[in-house]
Amino acid sequence: MSTRTESFTKPWGREVSPWRDIADHEWNDVGWQLRNLVRTPEQLSSLLGIQETEMASLLRLRKQFRFAISPYYFSLIDREDPSDPIRRMIVPSSVEETGEGDEDPLAEKDDQVAPGLVHRYPDRVLFVVTSFCSSYCRFCIRKRNWRSSDAASSRSEIDEAVAYLRAHDEVRDVLISGGDPLTLPPEQLDYILAQVRSVPHIDFVRIGSREPVMLPMRFTDDLLRLLDKHGPLWINTHFNHPREVTEEAAAACEKLARLGIPLGNQTVLLAGVNDDAATIKDLFHRLLKIRVRPYYFFQCDRVVGADHLRTSPWKGVEIMEALRGHTTGLAVPNFMIDAPGGGGKIPFMPNYQVSAAPGRVVLRNFEGALFTYTDRGTDTGAAPAASVADLANGNSQRILPREQEHYRRRDAKKARAATKK
Ligand code: SF4
Repeated sequence: MSTRTESFTKPWGREVSPWRDIADHEWNDVGWQLRNLVRTPEQLSSLLGIQETEMASLLRLRKQFRFAISPYYFSLIDREDPSDPIRRMIVPSSVEETGEGDEDPLAEKDDQVAPGLVHRYPDRVLFVVTSFCSSYCRFCIRKRNWRSSDAASSRSEIDEAVAYLRAHDEVRDVLISGGDPLTLPPEQLDYILAQVRSVPHIDFVRIGSREPVMLPMRFTDDLLRLLDKHGPLWINTHFNHPREVTEEAAAACEKLARLGIPLGNQTVLLAGVNDDAATIKDLFHRLLKIRVRPYYFFQCDRVVGADHLRTSPWKGVEIMEALRGHTTGLAVPNFMIDAPGGGGKIPFMPNYQVSAAPGRVVLRNFEGALFTYTDRGTDTGAAPAASVADLANGNSQRILPREQEHYRRRDAKKARAATKK
């Protein structure tokens, strides 16, 4: 699990990075990391050997989209591999210039009711409090904020948003997000949490943060005390690839878990990064080991400059099929599409309901075996089925796939037990 140990044999990790000679106390200092962000095409060129034509494109892109990478996160890149999955997520490339995609793919602006406050669902709101992140993902859905921010960043904007919350007692759940709220100056984060907490009908406060992934040294004792002061809180983080689950990230999540903060994770399905079942299963297992529950698995939104990272949504269904029943349910999140135009999150899952009739449903299990589930009082105890119609009609209870021997073993065992009686 640790990149620190893996990096002796693999071409990524701090030990093989340009920062290998930096003292531990500097590397582990969030201030040092922020002072040494990789943030220009020229730096990228010297670190990754960017070609001239690509450089020209990056110089143009710099005016359009923000760009920064913490040395910690950069060290996770395999610099020898131009298709490296971490690199695809964080390093800008000329393909972003195609212009495909929307500025605001989820139409959040249409549901904005106060500075930073998006009220789309009946009982919960999104509260965007900054447009700043320590590193900028190329697939971010709020790139529009990189140029002109919708975030509630001043005291008066925060107060205006909180006044809306006070006036709307149907709202009981606030997701504080950004940008990354945990990059805020402590006094500002303290103020926001205190104000939101002071609204009597707010039952849940969640924070969305990618800092456990991008900059795990962020979780200092001071920040942990601040979070503890405003608990109970929930934190949703955002790991996309198994290599992001490093020793440092694990330590950050451990600190949060010890504070009693439940940790959920959302993963975005990204072409060339995690679009295969083995990678996703490995990621979700690693997350469970560090007490982070895979919560949502998202189809990549149609945001401007990220078309090259999108897959077909059926790829997500295929991956979900490879998870459900094949590993612990704790490692099986919901695969969701955030509907364009502000339709909200919609589950897009494999279909396990094959057919239905009054009093019965026909179900498919993870192996492809079909079963009928009968409502109370309508079980006929009928003979084995020949077709799905027989299941739906209640003439049978199951159809078995070929080569699933254990069902036949179970039947034989039952038959032997019945004979003995
Ligand atoms: S950390 Fe989140 S908010 Fe920041 S750039 Fe990445 S996806 Fe966007």
